[in-house]
Amino acid sequence: IFDPQDVAGDEKELRAPICCILGHVDAGKTKLLDCIRGTNVQGREAGGITQQIGATYLPAENIRDRTSLKAETAIKVPGLLVIDTPGHESFSKMRSRGLSMCDIAVVVVDITKGLEKQTVESLHLLRCHNVSFIVALNKVDRLYGWKECTNAPIVEALKKQSDDVKSEYKWRLTKVVTEFKENGFNTAPYYENNKKKKVVNIVPTSAESGEGVPDLLLLLVRWLPDIITDKLAYDDTIECTVLEVNEHKDLGTTVDVVLINGVLRQGDQVIVCTKQGPVTTIIRDLLTPHPMKELKAKGAYKHHKEVRAAQGVKIVARGLQYAMAGTSLIVVKPGDDLRQAEAAAMQEIDMAISTTDEN
Ligand code: GDP
Repeated sequence: IFDPQDVAGDEKELRAPICCILGHVDAGKTKLLDCIRGTNVQGREAGGITQQIGATYLPAENIRDRTSLKAETAIKVPGLLVIDTPGHESFSKMRSRGLSMCDIAVVVVDITKGLEKQTVESLHLLRCHNVSFIVALNKVDRLYGWKECTNAPIVEALKKQSDDVKSEYKWRLTKVVTEFKENGFNTAPYYENNKKKKVVNIVPTSAESGEGVPDLLLLLVRWLPDIITDKLAYDDTIECTVLEVNEHKDLGTTVDVVLINGVLRQGDQVIVCTKQGPVTTIIRDLLTPHPMKELKAKGAYKHHKEVRAAQGVKIVARGLQYAMAGTSLIVVKPGDDLRQAEAAAMQEIDMAISTTDEN
């Protein structure tokens, strides 16, 4: 029966889900991120530890090209925004900030090691912030005798393996499922998981040869929007979090932000939170990196008159130098009460300062 309400529901505009990658050091977070965006940052960074939060936007079409998705299969979201959250222990504060804006996390677990200290810490953080997650059971190519199937969907790759590899895979998977259970989480390999809303999906991956990466991307853009449709509904109410402040040779001081919802425009009056109090300024320029490149990567930026969520954006404006990472950027619309907006910023500043003191 035709119901116009259904059509209206189906046409609800969704924004890109925001995803972060967590896990123990050396589990393969950086390498997996590289694999997802098709670059090689890991090779350039000493120890593979990513020291600053960056963001990468993957347009849906890019994901379609790299997966076995048929042209007629719709992707309901315009893309995927991946926040690069470092996994090193000393960055736990940044991880916590990164997490509060995420719709989903990918927890990377080394299949040869199982759950490790920082994996368990990540699980606690996720539980605290009530963020759903997918497990990337990484380094499957390290299973003895693994036959490489570059960028293949994992079920296909598993079929090609010898009985020995299959049985080693099985017992290691079972071990990891048990370890998750001990930490209070029900998990299952996603291809056998028929309770995807309740049981956490495990996607076996290799960040080295790419097996399982298409599966992971598909879960993020196909399965996720179905379970958190409301959360991903595009909304004009601006939600925007400051990631970091940068000094730029040509641009002066800029802030990298994640625009979670709404639109930012050149000329918008905005308030940033600083330790000295709220600073009101005007957006002079909005920059994004080219798709698939990291926000903080060097090179030519694209200039925008306006940017729509979800997106990582570099803002050029005066008075940004003391902006505090992890706080909101507030847009003052014509007709808004500036004093009220500044009071809201002040409240946030007090909160940010008190949580920093606790740590
Ligand atoms: P991070 O500390 O979690 O960011 O881990 P990295 O991405 O830096 O990876 C740690 C080490 O494991 C590096 O030497 C990577 O090349 C290697 N590595 C990561 N993922 C894989 C994988 O899927 N297969 C194999 N064989 N090695 C991997």
